[in-house]
Amino acid sequence: MWKLFDEGCTALVTGASRGIGRAIALELARQGVDVAINYRSNEEMAISLKEEIEEMGRQALIIKADMQNPDEIKQMFKQIKSQFRHIDILVNNAGIIKDGYLMMMSEASFQKVIDTNLLGCFRISQEALKMMCSAKKGVIVNIASTSGIVGQEGQANYSASKAGIIAFSKVVAKEYARYGIRCNVVAPGFIETDMTNDSGGKSLKDKYMDFISLKHFGEPQDIADAVAFLASSRSKYITGKVLTVDGGLID
Ligand code: NAP
Repeated sequence: MWKLFDEGCTALVTGASRGIGRAIALELARQGVDVAINYRSNEEMAISLKEEIEEMGRQALIIKADMQNPDEIKQMFKQIKSQFRHIDILVNNAGIIKDGYLMMMSEASFQKVIDTNLLGCFRISQEALKMMCSAKKGVIVNIASTSGIVGQEGQANYSASKAGIIAFSKVVAKEYARYGIRCNVVAPGFIETDMTNDSGGKSLKDKYMDFISLKHFGEPQDIADAVAFLASSRSKYITGKVLTVDGGLID
């Protein structure tokens, strides 16, 4: 059987305590990767994920760091360096929504979403690239959204942050290919997590179900499978691309 990852391969998954990030961390561990689990506040969930990963025989490291806080991010990379020495795979997954119609959206709300989602991705990528460039290898998978491709009403801040992540990823792919580093994007449609529950749950389903060809929301595992593919050598000739995982929501 073709192993997806080499022995000793390490990953950092941001926002891994819950939802999609948690599924990604578990899938990478299942495929033999040691995982650094980043979270913002949900320590209990992060600890239970660490335990699950260790039960699989992999190493896990939990690190609290807010995407909005450059000092905490720097500290996180110090910890990764001292315990894992390097990271081979970075998954920029942490993200928030703060929905509202543009006319009613405060500048603070717009800024918070951009700061967490887009600047967070920038801050983490910059630190990870230092390690990856000196190792002359690495893979980055950034989690965007269909909202960043087609735009979703009520999400001016979020759509802008995710469109930014897509353009940012294409630049990373071009600038760092010469160091053996690939960078791709997974753009989920509607996935069953706290995020979709918080932004409407059933009413969100009623509103959008007609537009989803497969007639159901996705599961976090659907995104984790796509990420594992893009993080592995099975996608070694793919870089600077967006893989939409949305059950046929957008063209
Ligand atoms: P979720 O269930 O709300 O989980 C969000 C995760 O991000 C949590 O682990 C949370 O940590 C972490 N997080 C939030 N703010 C953070 C910050 N400032 N610093 C560090 N970590 C932070 O969200 P999800 O649905 O799994 O979404 C994961 C990613 O997929 C996001 O980028 C989201 O935009 C994207 N996405 C989701 C959907 C969907 O339908 N669910 C669709 C398209 C794209 P704590 O637990 O510690 O708070």
